[in-house]
Amino acid sequence: MSYTALYRKFRPTAFEDVKGQDHIIMTLQNQIRADRIGHAYLFCGTRGTGKTTVAKIFAKAVNCEHPVDGSPCGECEMCKSIAAGTSMNVIEIDAASNNGVDNIREIREEVTYRPTEGRYKVYIIDEVHMLSIGAFNALLKTLEEPPDYVIFILATTEVHKIPITILSRCQHYDFKRISIETITDRMKELMDTEHVDVEDKALRYIAKAADGSMRDALSLLDQCIAFYMGQKLTYDNVLEVLGAVDTDVFSKLLRKTIERDVAGVLDIVEELVMQGRELTQLAADFTWYLRNLLLVKTSDNIEDVLDVSTENMRQLQEEAQMIETDVLLRYIRIFSELSGQLRYATQKRVMLEVALIKLCTPAMETDQDSLLDRIRAVEEKVEKGFEAAANAGERVIYVNGDGGPAGYPGEGGDGQSAVRKKPELPNAIPEDVQEVVRNFRSIADEASGMVRTYLKRARLSLGGDNRLLIVLPDSLAASVVGREDHVQEIEGLIENKIGKKVDVEVRYVEEGRHFEDTFVDIAKNINMEITVED
Ligand SMILES: [Zn+2]
Repeated sequence: MSYTALYRKFRPTAFEDVKGQDHIIMTLQNQIRADRIGHAYLFCGTRGTGKTTVAKIFAKAVNCEHPVDGSPCGECEMCKSIAAGTSMNVIEIDAASNNGVDNIREIREEVTYRPTEGRYKVYIIDEVHMLSIGAFNALLKTLEEPPDYVIFILATTEVHKIPITILSRCQHYDFKRISIETITDRMKELMDTEHVDVEDKALRYIAKAADGSMRDALSLLDQCIAFYMGQKLTYDNVLEVLGAVDTDVFSKLLRKTIERDVAGVLDIVEELVMQGRELTQLAADFTWYLRNLLLVKTSDNIEDVLDVSTENMRQLQEEAQMIETDVLLRYIRIFSELSGQLRYATQKRVMLEVALIKLCTPAMETDQDSLLDRIRAVEEKVEKGFEAAANAGERVIYVNGDGGPAGYPGEGGDGQSAVRKKPELPNAIPEDVQEVVRNFRSIADEASGMVRTYLKRARLSLGGDNRLLIVLPDSLAASVVGREDHVQEIEGLIENKIGKKVDVEVRYVEEGRHFEDTFVDIAKNINMEITVED
């Protein structure tokens, strides 16, 4: 008996079975219902998100003799012949292997003939970004004046490689990565149909590993089932097949790291390498573990959000007590950088070890940073020394100069900072922004979990158009706080607090530089004004 891969066997044949692309399905069905079908569509999105599957269902729907509410009936002759791949109306072209001008010219000649049955000839061009320039130009001619019985569906994973002239003639649909939840549910459904006994936790792990691709998820599942044919597929089995590591190992690794036990940490790496674990996957999973730990540390009632067992939860809570948020953020930063580098690295083990040693010995990292800093400071002095000295009198705020106000409280008259050139102080800080700055701590306290944590380390400055700049110590923090919904949240909190709207922009301090090198510290300035009034 031949075996059909799950992905083929359960490839959706109706719109209802396509998971995670509801916005696209709805639009397409509406077009079919209203008989307002376009002549060129562009489907883009990562692999395994359903682009060609939806294209085929669409091809069936437009040709179906009795479409039901925008979906193909699946019963009529047209539906059947398209499903069997025998219809002349649906032409699939893989642009990866047919990327020349001649291939497209062939299509242009064919296009001139009306379909002998059904309403539309549908050309599905997969991986369309692989076409040569000449081929794109040939295609463009057809797209400019397509016969009314022709539909082009172009599919691609790399939309930025498509010429703008082609893009502007297509309706554009973005296929999203499919959520872990949706993938898990779909696999659960299929495993029930197949009568395969699987642990939920195992499916969730596979869904997570598939990174938004349903096709990848089903292939991984296939692999795991084949390995444990006839047995219950457990979480441990899945880890084994995929070369992944159990959370217990991460817990051990983390505890050794917190203890700064370099030898102990390297022993664990040795053990994992001997077991043949995939180190790229390991780094990604450990980052995920740290992320969970951060959530546990910074939020209350996180149990429902995190998908971990009760015993793992207890473990995480215990570890959350053992580590400071700052340190944890540093761990996550180092490991997310590592994950990116490992993908293309040949010396994976060395890189992993170096990253772990970095975690264990913060002094090493700080040393390097401070060294770089000192070099930079010297460079700046050489480059701008004269200029800064000449202008020093004007920047009374920063210098303990004659006639100006004294230095900031707490600055301690640091002689070095007086010489270094500072960014310009704005002439006036708008009243609204001042009010936000004075209330910023209490505004930050009201922010949601992660944002609140990051805002504790934020400094404030003034941007163009009198925006409030929230400056974070690194790009990771800035990418979280700077997310559109988080910025909106902060702006909302500000409006609640002071009753006025202040625009917020999130920035970060470049690595190896100090906040004061790039930004004016308006908090200091405002505090000082208050002191003066006293
Ligand atoms: Zn039909």
